[in-house]
Amino acid sequence: MKRRDFIKTTAAGSTFILTSTGCTFCSTARGTGKHAHQSGRKIPVAYDVDVVVIGGSTAGVAAAVEASRAGARVFLAAREPYLGEDVCGTFRLWTNDRSIVDTELGAAIWGDGLPSQLEAKKALDDALINSKVSFLYSCFVTDILSDESGRMAGIIMANRSGRQAILARTVIDATPRGIVARMAGAKFGNYPAGKQAFKFTVVGNKMKSAPGLTGRFHEEPVQINFTSAGNPSDGSFQKANIQYKAIEYAIQVDMKDGTWASFAEAEQVARDLTWDADQVESADLLFQNPPDKMVGQEKWDDAEVDLEGINLKVFQPEKADNIFVLSGSASLSEKAAETLLEPGKMIRIGERIGAEAAMVARSLPAAGGPVVRGNPDPGAEKGDVGELLEGLRPTLNQGEVVSEDTTLPVLGKYDVVVLGGGTAGAPAGVGAAQKGARTLVVDYMHGLGGMGTLGMIGKYFHGYREGYTNVVDRGVKQMGPDHPRKKDHLDWWVFDWKTEYFRKEIRESGGEIWFGALGCGTFVENNRVRGIVVATPEGRGIVLGHTIIDSTGSADAAIAAGAAYSYTGGNSVAIQGAGVPFKNPNDFYNNTDWTFINDSDILDVWRVMVVAKDKFEGQYDIGKIPQTRERRRMVGDFTISVLDVYNGRTYPDSISLHKSSFDTHGFTEDPFFSLKPPEHGGIDVFAYVPFRALLPKGLEGIVVTGLGASADRDAMPVIRMQPCLQNQGYAVGRAAVMAARGDREIRYIDIKALQGELVEIGSLPETVLSDVDNFPPRDEEIREAVNTVVNNLEGLETVLWDRERGTEALKSAFHGTGNEEHKLVYARILGMLGVADGWQELIKAIKGYDNWDEGWNYTGMGQFGRSISYLDSLIIAAGRTRKKEALPSIFRLMGKLTPESHFSHFRAVAIALETIASHEAAEPLYKLIQMPGVRGHTMLDIETAMEIAPKFKNDVTTRNKSLRELILARALYKCGDVDGVGRQILTEYSRDLRGHYYRHSSGVLVD
Ligand SMILES: Cc1cc2nc3c(=O)[nH]c(=O)nc-3n(C[C@H](O)[C@H](O)[C@H](O)COP(=O)(O)OP(=O)(O)OC[C@H]3O[C@@H](n4cnc5c(N)ncnc54)[C@H](O)[C@@H]3O)c2cc1C
Repeated sequence: MKRRDFIKTTAAGSTFILTSTGCTFCSTARGTGKHAHQSGRKIPVAYDVDVVVIGGSTAGVAAAVEASRAGARVFLAAREPYLGEDVCGTFRLWTNDRSIVDTELGAAIWGDGLPSQLEAKKALDDALINSKVSFLYSCFVTDILSDESGRMAGIIMANRSGRQAILARTVIDATPRGIVARMAGAKFGNYPAGKQAFKFTVVGNKMKSAPGLTGRFHEEPVQINFTSAGNPSDGSFQKANIQYKAIEYAIQVDMKDGTWASFAEAEQVARDLTWDADQVESADLLFQNPPDKMVGQEKWDDAEVDLEGINLKVFQPEKADNIFVLSGSASLSEKAAETLLEPGKMIRIGERIGAEAAMVARSLPAAGGPVVRGNPDPGAEKGDVGELLEGLRPTLNQGEVVSEDTTLPVLGKYDVVVLGGGTAGAPAGVGAAQKGARTLVVDYMHGLGGMGTLGMIGKYFHGYREGYTNVVDRGVKQMGPDHPRKKDHLDWWVFDWKTEYFRKEIRESGGEIWFGALGCGTFVENNRVRGIVVATPEGRGIVLGHTIIDSTGSADAAIAAGAAYSYTGGNSVAIQGAGVPFKNPNDFYNNTDWTFINDSDILDVWRVMVVAKDKFEGQYDIGKIPQTRERRRMVGDFTISVLDVYNGRTYPDSISLHKSSFDTHGFTEDPFFSLKPPEHGGIDVFAYVPFRALLPKGLEGIVVTGLGASADRDAMPVIRMQPCLQNQGYAVGRAAVMAARGDREIRYIDIKALQGELVEIGSLPETVLSDVDNFPPRDEEIREAVNTVVNNLEGLETVLWDRERGTEALKSAFHGTGNEEHKLVYARILGMLGVADGWQELIKAIKGYDNWDEGWNYTGMGQFGRSISYLDSLIIAAGRTRKKEALPSIFRLMGKLTPESHFSHFRAVAIALETIASHEAAEPLYKLIQMPGVRGHTMLDIETAMEIAPKFKNDVTTRNKSLRELILARALYKCGDVDGVGRQILTEYSRDLRGHYYRHSSGVLVD
């Protein structure tokens, strides 16, 4: 856990004063209201290339491939979590133009006729991978770099890893609206206010008619070859032959102007007008032939386009020979742009521009002193931008560039800003908007509901379903009360209905929604979070809010503002299993667990998104957000422990009630569970979350919901269920309104008044109104539990709850008893806590084993109960006493391990030996590592990642093998190493594409 060192960069000397301005209740906004300050900073360089392509359109990919073939080093940054924004994002896959297969990429996508989403996306991935082009998904360009001569020298991009620089001699701007060229100062026409024509595609729906709306059915239907089994234990896919008709709508939208907010609203209008209960899929993006084209070096006035003859200067802004605009924003006649924007048409232009860009890059000297030029304004909003600037991974950085002191535009001011419209965030938006607060919900996806909708987890597993969640469940059913797709169970839902339900609730309450915009920082003044920094397709800006609700599920905003957090690292590689699901239209529940993913590591996310397309070949599509059960958790005013949950701790400030089993999807780490494993999945535990666990320590103006809340990792399985997080989100939305309305910090709202409201709607039981903290246990309770603990560890939860007092009581019981069996019970507990008193008993007990007992292999899906054996626990406990005398007994058992032995035995040995940290242990560990099959399980490149990912959706093989190798190498390294083998393996894993292995191995090497 570390506190991020952001706070010192905030504007010095400014004081915190609240003044009322234009918002409904109040606002923290001051200054000009138009701009906000960002201090000078250094931005790590992620790639140094000849050509950077911004945008993952088909033409962008073609350009990247061709530039690479021409010998250029190329990087491509796609905006969506896939390639093909122009055809997959807009769902414009249909074409009657057979010349489309004349290009290699066109043939790869359309050669077999109308492709599925997955086929198109995979063909694009393959094209880049085969051409050795580096690329990433979900990246937004935020700034441009210019060199000493004023020439464009690269770009800055934002993604879930933070912001990074790409040094480049040439930029191909494949964004639909030419955003890079705009940032570079190219001239564009004015975006005309008034009615504008857009296109939007939906699948499965009935044809709608409305003023300004006309639609046409595509002749060829969307073809589905599989359906979701809907059964988590069923690894197979059900074959199917299902067709859905797709409609392409032309929509006239009243546009105020060409700002991001207007485009975001246009997307909402398109969804308002076209949704119905039959919808099984919809486009992510609106399509438009931009009316405000760039002023190019040449203009193309003809209606037709000669793909081979058109002068490429049409695609270049004036006075910028190293920028190409590869989209409908180029200097084209409207008709010519219309033609070129037909699916696949622009690919040939992309190829030509790719080759040209490579040539231009070759002709240019290396950029001298690239910098992000500043534009300071003393009148700007006081404060500063907090953000992650560690690079994709610090070890991959290629230097850094300076970003000068500057200002960012203020994109809006709200009472409540919700970042992340997922399981908890969408209800937070509803809760705030329904109370009349000016509310904005921002998500980088194109739908609300997070894991429960886009994440393909369309039903509850356990969970407290009363209160607001009950309202949601019934409301979702009302989206199609008599519809044949309606699910019989109250706790199952149709994907499209739930995401639409939340959207309507927010919009009908007056809230605003921005899809396709990424939160990439916070605006902070004197430890008060005043807003979020948002990267949009139209550039980066700040959204000010009285209270920020961080519902990213990873505490993105809180951590950017400087909050400490806990996660994997040098001390721990424990993380719950994760996956990316397959997705066919109308699927609602595809639960997977086949890898580990750090969804705040864009390289790791890229890896799983590429691999999933390979793994689920034949399906119509894959999901758009990784299915991660465990994420970064910020450190709050209060951190919920395993034993708080296990003991049913009550609090005076409970804000949500949670109910589930300890569904751990992997091994646990808490000493309590190492002794007394969590119960089986059928057994529910109730847990309260106190409001303090949602408030990042040391920060005002911000509250965190969902998986990013402050809790120990092993406590989280009981807290993470959707019904409970929906209630939590709604409650936090209400809390934020109370803060804004009372013009006070959210930390100081009248919690009892809020609880009263939540009790009234059934989200909380009445008892919370009089609950007091029932921690710590009384002395006599501990004494009694220490006596009963010898009986199958009865009462261990009471003994360990208050660790310090429990340890003292255990020690005196250990020394006070003459009963050998009881002594061993106490010795095992004490050893697990790192107390050495019972070391002799532990060694004696280990000596009693001739061979290993039944161990545990890494299990993700369906993992309940123990993850170590009894003998494993004795070995870990003995190791934690740090007594070297334990070594011979451990070495003896190590000699009996074979490559087929259970993973938990290797892990137990490794934990014990690295804790004792004697060089004597190095050789035996080295021998284990030399056993056949133990070494060689890193995933250093995408080809290997694809090759070794088995097809099974709940596969565990790669994790069992890699974890064993990594954990043994760590122990060897910590015991002094042999021939540098431990270090070598750790170094290899520090370059692994899998984010958690990278975090762990590099953390161990640093420690
Ligand atoms: C595979 C799997 C199976 C599960 N099975 C069940 C089950 O059967 N039943 C059950 O009840 N629970 C289940 N869970 C648990 C539950 O679904 C999750 O714990 C819960 O949905 C998490 O809610 P959240 O609000 O914290 O995050 P999410 O629902 O993931 O919401 C986070 C939202 O924030 C957005 N976001 C993130 N970062 C940014 C950013 N920087 N800028 C803009 N937007 C951002 C995301 O797009 C997303 O919409 C499962 C979870 C997983 C992964």
